[in-house]
Amino acid sequence: MTDPVGGATPDAAIVGTGPNGLSAAVTLARAGLRVVLYEKEETIGGGLRTESLFDSDVAHDVCSAVHPMAAASAFFRRFDLPARGVRLLQPDIPYAHPLSRGRAAAAWRSLETTAERLGVDGTRWTKLMAPLADRSRGVVDLLLSGQRSLPPDPVAALRLAPRVLAHATARGGRFATEEAEALLAGVAAHAVGRMPSLTSAAVAMLLGHTAHSTGWPLPEGGSARIAEAMAADIAAHGGVFRTGHRVRDLAELGGVPIVLLDVGPREFLALAGRRLPARYRRALERFRYGPGAAKADFLVSAPIPWRNPLVGRAGTVHLGGTRDDVVRQENATAAGHPAGAPFVLVVDPAVTDPSRAAGGRRPVWAYAHVPNGDTRDPVELVRRRIEEYAPGFTDTIVASRGIPAADYETYNPNYTGGDIGAGAMTLRQSVARPTVRWNPYTTPLRGVYLCSAATPPGPSVHGMCGHLAALAALRRHHGLRTPPDLSPADTRSRSDA
Ligand SMILES: Cc1cc2nc3c(=O)[nH]c(=O)nc-3n(C[C@H](O)[C@H](O)[C@H](O)COP(=O)(O)OP(=O)(O)OC[C@H]3O[C@@H](n4cnc5c(N)ncnc54)[C@H](O)[C@@H]3O)c2cc1C
Repeated sequence: MTDPVGGATPDAAIVGTGPNGLSAAVTLARAGLRVVLYEKEETIGGGLRTESLFDSDVAHDVCSAVHPMAAASAFFRRFDLPARGVRLLQPDIPYAHPLSRGRAAAAWRSLETTAERLGVDGTRWTKLMAPLADRSRGVVDLLLSGQRSLPPDPVAALRLAPRVLAHATARGGRFATEEAEALLAGVAAHAVGRMPSLTSAAVAMLLGHTAHSTGWPLPEGGSARIAEAMAADIAAHGGVFRTGHRVRDLAELGGVPIVLLDVGPREFLALAGRRLPARYRRALERFRYGPGAAKADFLVSAPIPWRNPLVGRAGTVHLGGTRDDVVRQENATAAGHPAGAPFVLVVDPAVTDPSRAAGGRRPVWAYAHVPNGDTRDPVELVRRRIEEYAPGFTDTIVASRGIPAADYETYNPNYTGGDIGAGAMTLRQSVARPTVRWNPYTTPLRGVYLCSAATPPGPSVHGMCGHLAALAALRRHHGLRTPPDLSPADTRSRSDA
């Protein structure tokens, strides 16, 4: 029997406090349920932790750092982070992509500036992104859905579909210049898998257009500010946290009518064991994992000395060379062969949020795409990659820490073999996530739901997996058809729920 909440058996237990566990808890607590959350680590947040890793006042984002989806998703629009004091700071240049000989391409918040700077490809870029940016909410709500309902905005769907199809093939959607091609390939590579594909094209359209609509912000002070705002709302509505508690068997939660699991298929198998029907167990065992991420954190004494100063103004930097290089690296990685120089994402958070620098020191966040289960220490891989485009970077390093892909699952069992997407984002697994079911959040066990990024719409900090799973539970157990109000009490009129 689980711990009581306020002297009574909880109405719902949530295992795992990543953004999806937290969004599930917010949704249930706002509907009036007594919730208890279990987290194996001493701190909550999952992919939303910010910690001082080295002996300094500088805080580092352990997992996520940049939040286009927290600025755009339906859950976060209703939850309204800015009204809760979380400042989402927007870089003028959401992302940049350096190339050889000091060249670089950049996506500005302003579509006009981006087009102007892309020269002959400017009109093409505008034609690709403007129609999506004009219907941004519809595009986001379509892609960040449970993938089971009709598009909420048919116009957005009609604009999105041909673009995704065109960019899913090797010849489709090409540009005239290396700059524009590399710029788009860098966003497509966020899909972490084979390229080009329908998923890489969908990710390119989703992330690509939000750069020009809701932006790619960084929360002032780090990603943990998002988790803290969510935790405060849960606590204000009676929710209780049990940290440092790894749930090892669902039997521990006996008596709680609703259980939401912010865990991947492997952890679910371990928690439920023989209670699951053999067929469902086999389906979970067949779930495939994608390439890994190998994280490198640096404490440095100066901004990254990019050869092209424009890159130094970007919130996120993609290092992968030309489009063809990126495609080659991503396909080799997806096939399990380490690419010579991997695709690397770099963020110098103090560029967007000066409060992140302290005492002449600042953090540098980076990760490389590597094969699943890769055991190499990423510090050297990433350092070399940055040095290629920013000579002198090495001399600024005060301290560093690497987490090989193979070690990520010790930190968080959801990241199997370092797959931070909680399951390969193939076309099949975008829908059958983690198995083929009409309602992907339900399981064969009554009252037990999955709500992690291993359910639709998949990875990233959007809170939609947890929110949609909680709504499914509220419908089934309480007959609630209208989502609860999620806005902060004093800003109800501003909510767009
Ligand atoms: C290096 C890295 C960089 C990333 N960068 C970005 C980014 O910039 N922007 C972005 O949007 N996304 C990013 N992501 C992805 C994002 O962090 C994830 O998609 C997101 O956190 C998934 O949320 P979740 O709630 O499903 O799971 P998680 O955030 O993985 O949380 C799961 C939680 O459950 C806990 N848990 C698991 N099993 C148990 C158990 N049995 N008992 C108790 N607790 C348990 C874990 O400890 C963890 O706290 C990044 C991820 C990583 C690792």
